[in-house]
Order: sequence, then C-alpha cells, then structure tokens
Amino acid sequence: MEHIKIRQIHKFLNRLTELSRHYFHGLFKPLNHRTLVPHKTPLSTGGELQSQLALSPCERDEIGRELEKTVAKFVALFGKKTVMDYVSKPLRMVVFKERKQYVCYGNYPYRINTNNGGLFVKGEPSSPHNQPSLYVYYQEGKILNLCHEFVHFLDNKYITYGNSAYLPSEWVTFWQEGVAQYLSGQGEAYAAAALRRDPDGQRPSLSQLVDINAYSADGHSDRLYVWPYYVFKYLASTPETKDIRSALAIALGKPDHGGAYKRVLTEFVTAHADRFNAWLDTEAILAKAAREGANAPRAAAAARA
Ligand SMILES: [Zn+2]
Repeated sequence: MEHIKIRQIHKFLNRLTELSRHYFHGLFKPLNHRTLVPHKTPLSTGGELQSQLALSPCERDEIGRELEKTVAKFVALFGKKTVMDYVSKPLRMVVFKERKQYVCYGNYPYRINTNNGGLFVKGEPSSPHNQPSLYVYYQEGKILNLCHEFVHFLDNKYITYGNSAYLPSEWVTFWQEGVAQYLSGQGEAYAAAALRRDPDGQRPSLSQLVDINAYSADGHSDRLYVWPYYVFKYLASTPETKDIRSALAIALGKPDHGGAYKRVLTEFVTAHADRFNAWLDTEAILAKAAREGANAPRAAAAARA
C-alpha cells in the first residue's frame, strides 16, 4: 500500500515537472545581452553602438556626424587629454527600440535606474575591466538624449577625475548636466522656453543654481537642466568667464577629492552673483523677444545696450 502511494507521488511530480517545462519554458532563462541587443555598429568616435533595431546606412551616418560634431565642440572648449588613471574599455552605447524595453530590461540584466530619459554609467574608470556604457532609447523615430549622455562620457574621460564618487553630488551635478545640455545642442530651445515662463526677479541665485543634485531638484527638471545650461552659457560669454570655466575643468581633473574645484567654484559664485543675475535678465528679454519674431532684433539691441 505504502509502495503504491510513493509511486503515485512520483508520477504526480513527474507530470508537474513536465507541465512546468511546457508552461514556463524560457521564463527563467538568464537574459543575454547579445540576444536582447543584437545589432552592432562601430563608431567613428570610438566604441560601439549596440542596438535592438538594425541601423540603416543613412541613420548610421547621421549618428556618426552628430557624435563627431559633439566631440568637436567639446574639444574646442576642453581639449582631449585623457584624465589621469583612466584605463576603461571603449564606450558601449546600448540603444533600446522604445522606452518600454528600456524600462523592462533596465533593472535586469543591466541594473540601472530607468526613471530618466537615458543614462551614462561610468563605473570605475581606473579598472581596465571597466565597461563605460550609456543607455538610451528611441522616441518618435529618433534616439532620445544620445548626445547628452555622450557628453557625460566625454566629461568623464577628458575632464573629471575618477568615478566622481569622492565629490559631493551637489557640487558637481550642475557641471555635469550643464555641460551635457550646453554641448549636446538640445539645451537652448528647452532652456529659453523655461526662461520665458519664469517670472522676472524670482529666479534662483547663482549660488542656488550650482548647489543642486537629483535629490534636491525633487523632480523639477528645470533645476537640473535649464539653470545649469544658463550657467554654462554665462561661462562662455566673456574671456574672463571662459578662464573660470577652464579653471573649473582643470580642478575637476585633480585627484584631490574636489578641494581645488570647490575653491574655484566658491570664488566664481562670490564674484559673479550680481553680474550673472543681470546677464540672465538680458537673456530673458532676448528669449521673449525671439518668440515675438520680427521684434527680436530691435529688442535684442535694446537689451544689450
Ligand atoms: Zn544628464
């Protein structure tokens, strides 16, 4: 009797295994990057673009041109000297065919946050096994934020030393997002629209603008992208501010835990708080005038006078 019961249990278990093989086939298989993102395109700027969708030759050329343009703008401002101790592998650009896929596979297998419009993961640049990767996705037929994330990579390779974990994020976030918005070519229209919306006299001060991180921005993308963009535009406005920009970049390259950078930043904020406000008022007048089209040149002349 006991023997028959055991045989029945075995039979039941075998049937259960068979059913689970049938119904859950492939469900618990480890996800493989090569299967998920099968198309590879080498880039003229170095590294490789790995995408879910195959790129047409035309699209490949256009992406290559955009990245080259971004590199040229970056090099004109900061040069192209790799930071000390940087030995990472070449960049990997992972491109999902849509946001849904980005969100779906971001957590596993890529282990990234996807509450954003794309991400660059620098890793540990002093390790030769480190794989710097950026993750982006298509939206309305275009790869969203590709050049923005690419500038984060350039910043990490040619300006900012190490994994920047030694720098408090509220010191460097304005720099990272500002340079990415300023050089990616996507910041200007977005920033001008925000500046037009913002009431005069109620904008944050320069010291507030450079003291920001994702946590304190608390979902307000203006604080992360618009105001840092304007700080970068201001830094490009005179020979004196260009020198400050260079001094900040040089300080970021030092492996001294941000001491030199913080000193330059504090001096900049102290000396330029009022001048920056006045400059931003003018930018607001220009942004409003530009929208009014025909009146723009006259208003711009008046504002600059
Ligand atoms: Zn960014």
